[in-house]
Amino acid sequence: MNAGAPDRNLCAEMLATQIRRHGPITMADFMEAAVDAYYAKGDVFGTHGDFTTAPEISQVFGELIGLWAAVTWQHMGAPTPFYLVECGPGRGTLMSDVLRATSQVEGFSEAADVRFVERSASLKAIQRKALGERPVQWHETLEDVPAGPFILIGNEFLDALPVRQFEKTAKGWSERCVTLDDNGAFKLLRRPVPNFPDPTEAAKGAIVEVSPAVDAVIEQVAAAVARYNGAALFIDYGHMQSGMGDTLQAVKDHQFADVLAMPGEVDLTAHVDFGRVAQVAAAGGAKVHGPVEQGTWLTKLGVHLRAARLTDGKSAEVVASIDAGVSRLVNGDAMGALFKVIAFTAPHAPAPEGFA
Ligand code: SAH
Repeated sequence: MNAGAPDRNLCAEMLATQIRRHGPITMADFMEAAVDAYYAKGDVFGTHGDFTTAPEISQVFGELIGLWAAVTWQHMGAPTPFYLVECGPGRGTLMSDVLRATSQVEGFSEAADVRFVERSASLKAIQRKALGERPVQWHETLEDVPAGPFILIGNEFLDALPVRQFEKTAKGWSERCVTLDDNGAFKLLRRPVPNFPDPTEAAKGAIVEVSPAVDAVIEQVAAAVARYNGAALFIDYGHMQSGMGDTLQAVKDHQFADVLAMPGEVDLTAHVDFGRVAQVAAAGGAKVHGPVEQGTWLTKLGVHLRAARLTDGKSAEVVASIDAGVSRLVNGDAMGALFKVIAFTAPHAPAPEGFA
């Protein structure tokens, strides 16, 4: 380590070395390395971790997704076997809730060949435990999942994929890159992009985010949905319509943190541009359903009925905790409006549950 350089982890050291040797890197390259290093640490979720996701808030979330998947499977003609794929399964909680909720659906569980797309070895170990005896296979990337009928789920997966950022300065458009300051700390560098398309004549300071990684995932999923009789469901925070603005954020211990200061120690995410996702999926041959707000979608799926069934006969304390979890998922001032749900099916498939 350089004398005077900030005390840092291996990820930060490697990024700093790369910048010293080869020059500034794009925000997307910085984010990708940081996200990989961050999830390699293992269990970062829940009250004792850095952030809490919907499946960790309430079992009702995964259970309703399970019932959604079972109905979708029936619409697909109940293909047996089929791949039940989850991208970025975290602790494995969502899939274990899906499998429990669908255990009574005739044929579904036996037909489901569970596949996880996951890069973190420590999370794979946690996911293995969460699924108990249930067979599951892991793939590093989506391309490695075999071809065939499938249902794919991704909750808070797309927001972890790297984004590039472009900013309009007084001298024109630039790409936001990362370099080192005199003390060896990461800092922003704006690298001019002479031919950046600017149809809207944006004002100085405007920021445009694009995610080639999200586009690539959506293109693949859309093509596969059309070709192999599949369905996909993505849930994430983001906006309905493409717009401008810097949405890249860092979170640690349930608080916002500096995006550049501690790569690998903080969760880096960007809002998903659902307008763009819908466009890319449609262009790729899928029928697009939504996006709709998570609160609306869960309500249509019967979240309140499900919660009522769970609370029936329970102590006041348990009832309050189940109700609080559901409110957090559904209410507009919590996750209900910020989070959006989008689904893709084959062109002639009926609208899946919650999108009619
Ligand atoms: N879906 C879970 C976890 C969300 S966190 C939940 O809702 O609780 C993001 C997940 O995506 C983690 O499991 C992380 O390891 C995984 N991940 C992030 N980037 C990835 C990538 N490029 N390829 C595969 N998995 C990735």
